[in-house]
Amino acid sequence: MTPINKSALWKKRLGDWVLNPYVGCEHGCKHCYCPAMPGVKFSNHGRTQEEWGAYLYPKDNLVASLREQLRNFTPDKANVTRWGDGWLLMSFLTDCYTPAEAKLGLTRECLKLILEAGHKVRLQTRSPLIERDFDILRAHRDQVLVGTSLPYLSDKLARVLEPRAPSPKRRLRMLEKAVDEGLEVYVAIAPFMPFHDRKEVDKVHEVIRPLQPREVFCEVLNPKGKNIEMMRSALKATYPAHYVRLNNYTLEYWAKFTFKVLNYGVKEVNRFIPWPDTQQLWRKHLQAAQVKFLESYLPEELRTV
Ligand code: SF4
Repeated sequence: MTPINKSALWKKRLGDWVLNPYVGCEHGCKHCYCPAMPGVKFSNHGRTQEEWGAYLYPKDNLVASLREQLRNFTPDKANVTRWGDGWLLMSFLTDCYTPAEAKLGLTRECLKLILEAGHKVRLQTRSPLIERDFDILRAHRDQVLVGTSLPYLSDKLARVLEPRAPSPKRRLRMLEKAVDEGLEVYVAIAPFMPFHDRKEVDKVHEVIRPLQPREVFCEVLNPKGKNIEMMRSALKATYPAHYVRLNNYTLEYWAKFTFKVLNYGVKEVNRFIPWPDTQQLWRKHLQAAQVKFLESYLPEELRTV
């Protein structure tokens, strides 16, 4: 497989291409649905979803293969969809600034090659390790967009649900530094939690407003594989009310909660992502008018009503 691959993430307006330097992510977020995705399951040597965070496999021969691929993969070939806008996402099934990157430097090497080749890169990370690479990003500031997830602002809750990821406060600081460097930023209020309400969106927006992010998008927690079960067992002792709230967090619950969140009508959030994955099973749990409303957040190709 080549290092840069075509991606369906255009459906979320995140990009047309993706590069994952690693299999696995040491941050080990309990909500993370990556370990339940085929792209991880086929290459993680049979590790279980519960082991997510405890393993990391750097991709073999990545930098040399990328150099080879970039001989033919030029920016004119990268722009394939209107919603993806030719962005190359780093990364989707891992955090490309997972702690081991500090020593291994694979992300840094790839980033250099990709930007020098003229591609546009959307960097999605929970880690301030990205600050190490601000020198490269500054030199290509028209080609980069730096983003992080801020599903909520509580460092205490993050310690429970995202045990080895840097705190929301530190992520916010990283974005501030990126802006100081003249870089454009975005924020993902994701995954938005069923035990939070509109006030949480407002709180996040309040702190990011001064950064004038180019995008603020929101995506509701996706139930996938065992992630809800893992979250519940992490929350049980310290957040019993959240634990109860996640009871029966099924696809039906998800569909209705997504509709509710979209209905908050928060103007500052300029994108909502109603999980446009493969089968879109959520349709059967909503009324026709609700489906129509939700579909207005999907690209035209995916709408049915
Ligand atoms: S940082 Fe991202 S990829 Fe890593 S565990 Fe958390 S949600 Fe998953």
